[in-house]
Amino acid sequence: MARKKITDWSKYSLETRAIRAGYNRTQENEHSEAIFTTSSYVFDDAESAARKFSNSEEGNVYSRFTNPTVNAFERRLASLDGADSAVATASGMGAITLMALSLLKAGDHVICSRSVFGSITILFDNILTRFGIDVTFVSPLDINAWKSAITSKTKIFFAETPSNPLQELINIRELSDLAHNNNALLVVDNGFCTPALQRPIEQGADLTVYTTTKYIDGQGRCVGGAICGEKSLICEKVYTTQRTVGTSMSPFNAWVFMKGLETLSLRMNEISKNALVLAKWLELHPKIEKVHYTYLESHAQYHLAQQQQSAGGGIVTFEIKGDKAAAFKFIDNTAVLSLTGNLGDVKSIITHPASTTHGRLPEQDRLRAGIKDNLIRISVGLESINDIIEDISQGLDALD
Ligand SMILES: *Cc1c(COP(=O)(O)O)cnc(C)c1O
Repeated sequence: MARKKITDWSKYSLETRAIRAGYNRTQENEHSEAIFTTSSYVFDDAESAARKFSNSEEGNVYSRFTNPTVNAFERRLASLDGADSAVATASGMGAITLMALSLLKAGDHVICSRSVFGSITILFDNILTRFGIDVTFVSPLDINAWKSAITSKTKIFFAETPSNPLQELINIRELSDLAHNNNALLVVDNGFCTPALQRPIEQGADLTVYTTTKYIDGQGRCVGGAICGEKSLICEKVYTTQRTVGTSMSPFNAWVFMKGLETLSLRMNEISKNALVLAKWLELHPKIEKVHYTYLESHAQYHLAQQQQSAGGGIVTFEIKGDKAAAFKFIDNTAVLSLTGNLGDVKSIITHPASTTHGRLPEQDRLRAGIKDNLIRISVGLESINDIIEDISQGLDALD
């Protein structure tokens, strides 16, 4: 008797879908997913080639368009995100650029949260403006600022929640209602929580964008990104743009990210536990001025975080008492934590945002976004939390 083959995983839990959904086993009966490292595909005959090129017959033509490994990753991610479809891209910034190229034209207007990843600000403010796309930056915390920024040309609301690095939240439900009442789409960068902790589409967002470089890989190996949403937007607009502009993901990277999804929930929950312990410890430390972590009761949006997210995630940001020199001294007196600009790794990471990730922003914009010189970002990993705290403690002990 042949065993039943499950093709629809939708009734299974997120943890099961992360491991099982989206992959079609080949005739070789491999257990681990295969990597299709091929740039093109052969056709059975000339007629079939012609039909595939004209899109009247489905099937692979060229890996800038489709690739079985990339498509398996896209289906698995879409399933976790509660989305119909996904398009994987070469990087997180590639995903956001592709989203903009797919959905906007000259004359259109975007309202963007002021608290977004540094390169996103530069993309909207310096690059897309050259193509006639207007942007207004507003506080993610002030719904009235979003309301007053709306014009008849507004097409997209863009926000990150929680934001990098200050952990500010948007109210996804409220902002998506406002966008929809004004014929605009809400796009949420969900790179910090990932679908394991927060699913913005289920809360009203139209599209989510991901940097898969961070938690979805989870071990700091590959750069990648993705856009998830309903079929009409993803297939007709985003995919058709990608096949021409070529922001496509490599199959090897897709395979690494697919492996990352298998342990995503486990990692995000453990990382969040570690992060909460660290945040509570920091809050009581005399050399710390302020801690930003959404699952701390002292966070201004603690209740919203409890509604929107199932845990706090791995980013803990804090201000030390002192200036930039003190921040550098503190960092240089830690040793276990990696000093790098990345985040979302099983290795804990320490970063000074003002001089690195947000260093390209003009000082005035940077300070307005709250990225002060004494601000430190920790991306909490999976080492023993006692060792992480001990390392940070040594750094703080070095300060006067
Ligand atoms: C890193 C990051 C990005 C950009 O992603 P890349 O993969 O580096 O291009 C976008 N949004 C957030 C929240 C990020 O942390």
